[in-house]
Amino acid sequence: MEIKKYLLPEKEMPRKWYNIMADMPTPMEPPLHPGTGQPCSPDDLAPIFPMNLIEQEMSTDRWIDIPEEVLDKYAIWRPSPLYRATGLEKALGTPAKIYFKNEGVSPAGSHKPNTAVAQAYYNKIAGTKKITTETGAGQWGSALSMSCAFFGIECKVFMVKVSYNQKPYRRLMMETWGANCIPSPSTETQAGRSILEKDPDSPGSLGMAISEAVEAAVTTPDTKYALGSVLNHVMIHQSIIGLEAIKQMKMAGDYPDIIIGSAGGGSNFAGLAMPFALDKINGKDIDIIAVEPASCPTLTRGPFAYDFGDTVKMTPLLPMHTLGHNFVPAPLHAGGLRYHGMSPIVSQLVLDGIVRPESVRQMETFEAGLKFARSEGYISAPECNHAIAMTIKEALKAKEEGKEKTILFNWSGHGLVDMRAYESYFKGNLSDMDLPQDVIDAALKDLENLPKPRQAT
Ligand SMILES: *Cc1c(COP(=O)(O)O)cnc(C)c1O
Repeated sequence: MEIKKYLLPEKEMPRKWYNIMADMPTPMEPPLHPGTGQPCSPDDLAPIFPMNLIEQEMSTDRWIDIPEEVLDKYAIWRPSPLYRATGLEKALGTPAKIYFKNEGVSPAGSHKPNTAVAQAYYNKIAGTKKITTETGAGQWGSALSMSCAFFGIECKVFMVKVSYNQKPYRRLMMETWGANCIPSPSTETQAGRSILEKDPDSPGSLGMAISEAVEAAVTTPDTKYALGSVLNHVMIHQSIIGLEAIKQMKMAGDYPDIIIGSAGGGSNFAGLAMPFALDKINGKDIDIIAVEPASCPTLTRGPFAYDFGDTVKMTPLLPMHTLGHNFVPAPLHAGGLRYHGMSPIVSQLVLDGIVRPESVRQMETFEAGLKFARSEGYISAPECNHAIAMTIKEALKAKEEGKEKTILFNWSGHGLVDMRAYESYFKGNLSDMDLPQDVIDAALKDLENLPKPRQAT
């Protein structure tokens, strides 16, 4: 029998998160206050986040202790298994060795509880009674709902309206975990009302839902806001993925030449890749690839600029690759990848040549997902199919070149609640949507009068 999975004993689960901000070749530029354009102080962020998370957001400590209460929750599904994708290797006839980290084993079905549990815990000890957030397809909303239930915090989720109507199951998961989920734009906030006034039939977007959730947090007592990706503290929490994977690759007697993850806000990609990126910073030759949809090409076609995280311009300005805060991505099935911005850490590492961005088209992601399901069994989230599509490309390139490459990718979540997307694919209702340059240029006009980072592109 060939060895299929590498299971780390529970007692060997990492006890510290890794913070790449300690090792970045170029120091990060600070977030700016949306009103003054000056660097944000911790106090500026205090109405939105608890101080313990703000400290992490700004920390340059390399190692951060994972609290015991968080480890106890992680132990429900962590350490997650590392698999060798022998079935996919055979189906492709590639000499490449393919490994994947299975983050779909969490109760919510994706990597998102790695930060949701931590954020709920830090809010709990800071005295937060209620957390507001936004969600697209519902992966983040469900992860946070579960985590708030663990720590006895009320949870309110603004869900992008088009997804709320199309994807009832994740909403029901949120309700099962005790959260209140409402479609956005809603009439509950000033931001929602102003969007509806202009467009009563607005399908919503992540940028709009973030505006609503932030407004609800700052106008409700004892309430904070939580973000499921993009921010530095989220990348730190997700490093548990890569720290486990380093140990598991050792068990396999291997080391990756290529690391791949899908990138929406950048968190599952960074979580797997950052602990390995430290080796690259120290001279090791690794190709680290962030994969995004061709129809929402933040890293591959968006400039590095200061931009708002939301549509209504309430959030701090972040230095990141962006398509502009008013960019509304095509109704792609990978809802978790439909975001105009990108993690500042991932953006900076692209500028520094540590991370290589690539984009793939929707049709090839579903083809890849079917190939994976039929060779490995697991049905992947549409977001995750982006990483699989890139893995297949690299494995076929290795075959052509006759090279024995080792590829490691992040299997960020299962697709069992996304079968409608597969149905659309089977019915021939999906297509590749080209994104004309003038659409991007128009959205980028909104950045013209904003401050520019030093390395603006
Ligand atoms: C949310 C999500 C993503 C994209 O978000 P990142 O922050 O870029 O990781 C990818 N895969 C799955 C399964 C998701 O739920």
